[in-house]
Amino acid sequence: MSQKTTEELRQEVGKRRTFAIISHPDAGKTTLTEKLLLYGGAIHIAGSVKARKAARHATSDWMEIEKQRGISVTSSVMQFQYEGKQVNILDTPGHQDFSEDTYRTLTAADSAVMLIDVAKGVEAQTIKLFQVCSKRGIPIFTFINKLDREGQNPFELLEEIERVLGIRSVPMNWPIGMGRELCGVYDRMKNQVELFQGKDHSEIEVRKTEGYNDPVIREMAGDYLADQLAQDLELLDVAGDTFDYEKVRTGQLTPVFFGSAVNNFGVQTFLENFLELAPQPTERKTTEGSVEPDEEKFSGYIFKIQANMNPAHRDRIAFLRICSGKFQRGMSVRHVRAGKEIKLSQPQQFLAQDRDIVETAYPGDIIGLFDPGIFRIGDSLSEGRDIVFDELPTFSPEIFSKVSIKNALKQKQYLKGLDQLTEEGMVQVFRSVGAFEDTYLGVVGQLQFEVFEYRMKNEYGVDIQLFRTQFQFARWIVGDKIDPTKFRINSILVKDKNDVNVALFENEYAMRTAMERMPELKFLEVAP
Ligand code: GDP
Repeated sequence: MSQKTTEELRQEVGKRRTFAIISHPDAGKTTLTEKLLLYGGAIHIAGSVKARKAARHATSDWMEIEKQRGISVTSSVMQFQYEGKQVNILDTPGHQDFSEDTYRTLTAADSAVMLIDVAKGVEAQTIKLFQVCSKRGIPIFTFINKLDREGQNPFELLEEIERVLGIRSVPMNWPIGMGRELCGVYDRMKNQVELFQGKDHSEIEVRKTEGYNDPVIREMAGDYLADQLAQDLELLDVAGDTFDYEKVRTGQLTPVFFGSAVNNFGVQTFLENFLELAPQPTERKTTEGSVEPDEEKFSGYIFKIQANMNPAHRDRIAFLRICSGKFQRGMSVRHVRAGKEIKLSQPQQFLAQDRDIVETAYPGDIIGLFDPGIFRIGDSLSEGRDIVFDELPTFSPEIFSKVSIKNALKQKQYLKGLDQLTEEGMVQVFRSVGAFEDTYLGVVGQLQFEVFEYRMKNEYGVDIQLFRTQFQFARWIVGDKIDPTKFRINSILVKDKNDVNVALFENEYAMRTAMERMPELKFLEVAP
């Protein structure tokens, strides 16, 4: 490859910012995403993201479940440009019932934006998603939303972030008032005040200051709020963490921004600071050592497969995160698991559900590949090399149902569906050992069962029955002498798809007791 291409690649990598927004439902993710897309000119009218969702409901019966539940089942990717940066937002489902998909999508991100409702603080789903990002050590940026409402004291929120999530924080800006009193924020890095103007806070006046004691603030915000601000910031200067880029980069310190997405307040400053501080794509681990994004040879891995995005075509799309090299339409790459060369001829890029054919793409980008059934989640594609990305963690299922088929004549289709959907990573399957073979499905979110049932019927023509069980934990067992009779109370011994022994437990007590009684065995959270 020529010098020019290498330089081009380096520049393109430098422009990329690929991130996911993590939050609990209702924190304002759809609203924030939409505002970001507006800045990027990717959409032109506020309400488009929601409208797009609605339009999708009307046209696609695969999305029937979404329509019924008013939620988004699948994650998509949104791309836009802003001030020379190429921004990729990975959209993860924002509803209560998230799935392994949500977790896996996070592996494709280079950083995360954690969105928190100023009144509700750190919520359940935020914690789960945070932990997945934190494990990977990626930078996490915090946006505290809905400042136009009465919320918790900002100091208490920071304290809660540290106590609940175990990450230290550094406020990049600080609210001047809150709720009805909110009049703006003070930017600690730029030493400027940004004040709301107009009834809907739509205009923002920016004034440089000599620091938070500058009389300008008093003039603009009044004595009471100016005093409060000076007091707060003094305390932060003395007792708060200082900004340390190295700590941000390694996920030990989260920069915090305050704002209000729906009022578009603080969004632009956030976007600009975020794009400045967020990392470009970095190296990724593989079985053959790390791969740098600016390596000439193309590589990437599939983190998600989605079936029937377009029911008229019954197609499957495999989402690929590019890790190195330049992608060119029609190029040949090695499908490492299958051990053969394939041609990538009809790749697509995504803005929500719109699809454009992509000619070229770079590390950090996500492309969709038509999948005639050759891909699995976790597959690596690479130019000329047999490297495998070890990016995709599996998660321990937490909800289990017994599954059976309504019409025994459909056994063949049933097994095929079970096999394929398990392979896609939609559900994990377990089979009991003994005279009657029961089949159990394990998932991390209830919704996966509903999607599974729907797809079995629509794609394989099989009606199934699901019975929810009491089991809450799965532990893969390593050891020779496993006595099945010891797994009878509040637990059961089953085998996973690779015939590895797994114990399902109804509660933590049963699990702990089993571990104590059988110290010679190892109990693992995920498959060894
Ligand atoms: P998601 O479930 O996280 O995607 O949340 P949405 O973006 O759908 O927002 C949930 C609700 O919060 C909607 O009614 C939004 O209009 C509202 N909301 C979002 N941002 C703000 C904000 O800054 N202030 C207020 N008051 N409401 C907001």
